[in-house]
Amino acid sequence: MLERIDDDWRVAQRCAGCDKQRELQLTEMNVGTIVGHAFDARSLVLPLCPACGSREVLIASAEGETHPFPGSVGHLHQLLVDHLCATLVERGRVLPDVVKRRGLLKPALVAKDSLAQWFPDGFKFE
Ligand SMILES: [Zn+2]
Repeated sequence: MLERIDDDWRVAQRCAGCDKQRELQLTEMNVGTIVGHAFDARSLVLPLCPACGSREVLIASAEGETHPFPGSVGHLHQLLVDHLCATLVERGRVLPDVVKRRGLLKPALVAKDSLAQWFPDGFKFE
């Protein structure tokens, strides 16, 4: 799962497979997945964990989707995922094959006030 997004867009992730933390850059990630003829424009496949080979897939919220437990770890993690995916889309980091099939994506920006409310000290978990 994501643990932190830094101001300079280094992202810290903790691997579900081996519990190691690592840092990723935005340039290592693209929104979208293609499986055969199907595609998904809301998923973000992270690079393989170099230690154990696990691959984490993050899924952004659907438009208008709200989390059932505001303030829970699941909710905060979802906000980070949504914020990261929106920023990647905004910067054009979307798989070219997804753009070809779907057209340019609109970033589903997370409201600034809800980010400020839940992450007053930066985008991170303790
Ligand atoms: Zn791992």
